[in-house]
Amino acid sequence: TRVYLGIGSNLGERAETIRAALRLLAARVGEIIAVSSLYETEPWGLTDQPRFLNAVCALETALEPQELLATLKEIEVTLGRVPTVRYGPRVLDLDILLYDDLQLDTPELTIPHAGMLTRSTVLVPLAEIAPLVRHPRTARTIREHLADLGPTPDVAPYPPGLPPKAVAKGGLGQPSRC
Ligand code: AMP
Repeated sequence: TRVYLGIGSNLGERAETIRAALRLLAARVGEIIAVSSLYETEPWGLTDQPRFLNAVCALETALEPQELLATLKEIEVTLGRVPTVRYGPRVLDLDILLYDDLQLDTPELTIPHAGMLTRSTVLVPLAEIAPLVRHPRTARTIREHLADLGPTPDVAPYPPGLPPKAVAKGGLGQPSRC
């Protein structure tokens, strides 16, 4: 099953946390197919908190949705996430964006992720690695949904000044990029 995950961090060594999360995802979830570059993004919801680093990755997994969610929560805890207020700062946030063409709505899990079509912090990195993937509910591509948002000044390539560049899984081993 092809899944797309959102990865975010706004506390501590953000880039190192995201690299560590990718290593744990590869070990516990499945083969990493692609990873976006890193973006520094303005927090939304609660805006008075540090900026996030965000990325998305594509994996091939054998886990069912609920197992996947449980595994992501374990990884969040392993890497030091402590309970906090909703939308508040966190060492690591892992979200299931897409799970094949599945549409699921339970109290625990909404797939595709409920906020993904309105969030530049998701659509900018996702469009890098999955521009032509179609959202199962709208049947429109990620690239089209990103274009709908208009300019996205709240999402900047990280480190600053470097043009964004998607890397295949080989990029995981490089220290300076995710
Ligand atoms: P958060 O605080 O952003 O990590 O969200 C926490 C809760 O959101 C989780 O405990 C899940 O039960 C719920 N949730 C609903 N849909 C999703 C999804 N697509 N990916 C991850 N968490 C989800």
